[in-house]
Amino acid sequence: MRPSVFPSPANAAERNRFHARSLQHQRPLSFVTMALSIGAYALFVAARALLVDAPFPLWIATLAGLGLVLLVLAIPRTRSTAEFGLIGVAYVVIMQLAANALARGTDDPLVWMTPVVVAITLCAAPLWLTPRHFALGSVCYYASTLPFVLGLPHDVARLAIFGVWLVIALMTAIVFHFGFYHFRYRHFQLEEALTTRAATDALTGVMNRRAFLDEAERFIAARRKASRPVALLFVDIDRFKSINEQFGHGAGDKALQNVADTIVQHAPEGALIARMGGEEFVVLVEERPPAPIAGLAQSLRHAISQIARPDGFVTVSIGVARMQGEDSEDDLAALLERADEALFRARQAGRNQVAFERGASLVAVRNTAAHDANDANNAVQQISTPVQMPRMRWRNVTLVSHFQPLWSLPREKLIGVEALLRGEDDQGGLVPPVVLFGGLSADELRELDVLAHRCHLHSAAGRLPDGARLFLNILPSTFICPGYEAELAGMVDAAGLAPGDIVLELLESDDAGPDALSLAANRYRDCGFLIAVDDFGARYSNLDRLLRIQPDLVKLDGELIRARNRRSGRPLLRDLVTLLHQSDIVVVVEGVETTEELVLAVEAKVDIAQGFLLGRPNASLAPANTTPTRIDHAFDLAAEARAARMSRFDCAIRPWLAGLAEASRQVQAGVPYGESLARLMAGPQCVRAFALGPTGRPTLFEARGAARTEPPLSLHNGSDAAGGRWDHRAFFWRAARNNGQAVYSGPMLSPLTSCLCVIASIAIEVDNQQVLLAVELDWASPDLPWPEAA
Ligand code: GH3
Ligand code: MG
Ligand code: MG
Repeated sequence: MRPSVFPSPANAAERNRFHARSLQHQRPLSFVTMALSIGAYALFVAARALLVDAPFPLWIATLAGLGLVLLVLAIPRTRSTAEFGLIGVAYVVIMQLAANALARGTDDPLVWMTPVVVAITLCAAPLWLTPRHFALGSVCYYASTLPFVLGLPHDVARLAIFGVWLVIALMTAIVFHFGFYHFRYRHFQLEEALTTRAATDALTGVMNRRAFLDEAERFIAARRKASRPVALLFVDIDRFKSINEQFGHGAGDKALQNVADTIVQHAPEGALIARMGGEEFVVLVEERPPAPIAGLAQSLRHAISQIARPDGFVTVSIGVARMQGEDSEDDLAALLERADEALFRARQAGRNQVAFERGASLVAVRNTAAHDANDANNAVQQISTPVQMPRMRWRNVTLVSHFQPLWSLPREKLIGVEALLRGEDDQGGLVPPVVLFGGLSADELRELDVLAHRCHLHSAAGRLPDGARLFLNILPSTFICPGYEAELAGMVDAAGLAPGDIVLELLESDDAGPDALSLAANRYRDCGFLIAVDDFGARYSNLDRLLRIQPDLVKLDGELIRARNRRSGRPLLRDLVTLLHQSDIVVVVEGVETTEELVLAVEAKVDIAQGFLLGRPNASLAPANTTPTRIDHAFDLAAEARAARMSRFDCAIRPWLAGLAEASRQVQAGVPYGESLARLMAGPQCVRAFALGPTGRPTLFEARGAARTEPPLSLHNGSDAAGGRWDHRAFFWRAARNNGQAVYSGPMLSPLTSCLCVIASIAIEVDNQQVLLAVELDWASPDLPWPEAA
């Protein structure tokens, strides 16, 4: 289609929006122009009164002036384009009639009228909002000239000159009016396009997060006013990352578009649909009683499960939350939080399902949160005057201590605060740490580090909550400084604390070798300090450092909470925690920001957690009362998820255990191993079936099952698989301890395929000898539920 020179609104709705927007733009401009034209009118009247001898129609001039003033004052109050247009028509007509009356008694009325005819027409032209108003205004304006013109003496030449002026003015006015109209329309189109673009997710065409948060507030407020219930669906695509990884981002993008389209097709009219980020969508709807929200969620889930992805079908997990009663303080943020938690449970329960909010305990968290906020406000008011935080100077910067709480997860109790250095410039602005610590020499860094310790100890003196320890960051170069342990112990003592109250967090950096660190650690330990290794896993904070220093605590970076097995998606945190626990090290995770991360930390048996979810760094040392409830809630969620996972696992493993029991009866009845185990080997997950002698060897039987897992790295290629000794493995000794009963163990790395597997096994007596029958099951698929560590 060729772009039109004069584009115009495509339909009535667009035209109405355009005119309404024009009204907003035009009102102030018209107000000023018309107000100025009253000044011009006053000049006109004064000139007529002073320069012409003929009788002056005072009452007409005054009445018209008054009318014009009233019309100008009405402009800011106009609500519709029609009102605005009518004011315009009335204005030009009054102006015209008044000018006519004033010109009438003069010697040369046409001379008086010419500027009026030209000026008013031209000034008004761009101000008319629509061509219709322009046409109506112009017709009325010139129609009201007619009696005057007809009453003039028939001087053809003068009338012709007047006519020429009139035509020129009218033609220019037409160009002016349409020029401005189209200019405004193009501006409007651009404005609409930009607004839409800013509110739309470019990939899927649905609303983006920012627009949703704005719109949803309005949506909820309107429904609340009308006492109509609102529900929110939080939709997350299952295993989305694997589409990207296996088939490329193009396939991932396509899946996102298809899911968005399906949601748009199936959501009820008026629903707000948005992509909140990544592969997460939300749908905010008004609940209409005959159509239950559960039905909508299920039909959406079902519709999406029909979308093909290269390796099957797309599935989603959906969390549903409803707005609480009208009187409650429930808001959008709370609704999103509850739906997100429901979503978490849907995912934990195996994905491709809908879960509903649990409500009660979260409401408790929120209520306590509200009280906390009040308490905190009161507390701030109470303490703001008496407690004067120590402030130290460093160059042009004032140093201030902030404290972030650390919580024991199993005890749901505050066990420490980490001191963090903040810099303020002389205008009270924050100096970011990169600026504060950037570009300093080694000596300057050490000087600042020591000053920070002094500042933190001063700030914490007498204010450390009961039973809480103070966590101080220390640079390795400061840590190994000979004699600093005694100096620090002196500062700690001066602050009324004992070294046992202090945990030194050894920062990750390479400015000290492992031998020096390990020697220094012994000196600090002798003084009574506790030692933590910070940022474990990052760069220099590695396993070697850990083994040399033998710290009391290890702090894991938040990123490690999210680390997952590449194939199964299983979180790796719990295995890491187990390793550290077995080295007598207390595990702290930092950077806990979402409920899901807190639940992962709980499931991984992390001892201590820290992060925005549990408390932000703050000048005050008082912790929030809400946090224990939050932690407790995470334990509830973890327990629920564990129960769901275990029951799914039980369902998945039961047929294998029953099959083994059946096979063992056949073996005892003299049926050959291959025949007894044949049914199990045909199972799609079966990697291999085997039978071992009493000490884990010899291998009495071994054969590949139906599972076609191609090993990324096989330590035993097919022909070598037979043989070896396996009595040290849990599947062996556990079966031996439960003689005659089928058991499982794992998930563990398969000795055959180097992939994660679960082994089901049973120990039986055959000819007075213990024989172990076992099947190795491929358990790497992310769709399989994981048992508790076995
Ligand atoms: P789960 O089943 O637990 O929800 O796992 P998941 O893989 O679906 O979710 P996860 O949050 O682990 O991964 C989301 C991924 O989405 C990570 C990111 O690379 C990808 N992603 C985010 N935005 C886009 C996008 O616009 N296009 C594509 N193709 N991928 C995206
Ligand atoms: Mg997902
Ligand atoms: Mg996600």
